[in-house]
Amino acid sequence: MIDNIMAILEPVIGRTIKRKISTMSGKKLPFIAGHKLLYTCNLRCDMCPFWRRKDEKLLSLEEEIKMMDSLASAGVSFMGFEGGEPLLRNDLEDILKESHKRFHTSLVTNGWLLKGRASSISRYLDYLFVSIDGRKETHDKQRGVPSSFDHAIEGIKEAKKYVPVAMSTTITTNNMDDIKYVVNLAEELGIGVNIQVSYDYSTADKLSPDRKKLYDLLLDLKKMKEDGAPIVNSKEYFDTLVNSWYYGIPWACKPWSTVNIDPQGRIVMPCYVLNEYAGEKKVWEIDIKELWNTYDWKPYESCNKCSLSCYLEPSIFSWRKPSMVSERIFGSIADYIASIF
Ligand code: SF4
Ligand code: SF4
Repeated sequence: MIDNIMAILEPVIGRTIKRKISTMSGKKLPFIAGHKLLYTCNLRCDMCPFWRRKDEKLLSLEEEIKMMDSLASAGVSFMGFEGGEPLLRNDLEDILKESHKRFHTSLVTNGWLLKGRASSISRYLDYLFVSIDGRKETHDKQRGVPSSFDHAIEGIKEAKKYVPVAMSTTITTNNMDDIKYVVNLAEELGIGVNIQVSYDYSTADKLSPDRKKLYDLLLDLKKMKEDGAPIVNSKEYFDTLVNSWYYGIPWACKPWSTVNIDPQGRIVMPCYVLNEYAGEKKVWEIDIKELWNTYDWKPYESCNKCSLSCYLEPSIFSWRKPSMVSERIFGSIADYIASIF
């Protein structure tokens, strides 16, 4: 039994300890991987650049496995799949199964195709994120396709029978007034909600809200979290945005904590927002540890351009903040164990 539990924990605890030892000697290593399985999507969100890109040939299952093996040996413990819409891949279950053997595994979907596949994908997931932007009318308008909201909610109701689920909500100029509604809806459905503020990509519609108008909302969300609302973001996430946007106290971005892989298996650096370097080589043809420790990350530490929680949260994580350790590390391990038994 102990052997089984240790075998399950190795991807998270074992690599975390090894990484901690390496980083103490000044080395940088990624511990999260974000992989876009494809750019194609069945929705047309205003703020999204990805559905506007054409997919080249996608990775085969064998190549996905090669990619996962090289990420695991570089120290990655957490794998997040996204797109485009990942459920458009017919081999998604096979990919997730392989990921779940190696990593704490999560997936982001728009939920349209979720209902019919919730049970088959959930057995290989530790956490599922479904995008919800607001009330039905707001959501459908922002997602660009009628009935997106209804499909997503149906999918959530089915998926939460099998796996922990959270809504993923991006604050834009269109839905600022709906954010508290979304938090209440998550509470009603018995799931979590992760919130982030839209970033303007050069190839998408500009929808970032005016920061002056966000001040009260950010403080209200932090208060809702403290009062027990199921907000997945740490309260430090809201503190960091308020401090940096309104009081001029910057946060140090650590984009090296996350390695991004595009649908063709190439590493995108320094982060998928800036997308400044995507060499032609596949991730398994590269020595990730060497690349990570020769790349010049310094200019990006003071970037502060985006507030995407997938970068900001790992950047502000500290072992000295008990609430973050408990939510991020122990919570993840508990989910991981629960998903196995
Ligand atoms: S559902 Fe996601 S990938 Fe698809 S268009 Fe919207 S934001 Fe982009
Ligand atoms: S703050 Fe800058 S470097 Fe950091 S993830 Fe955002 S865009 Fe990238």
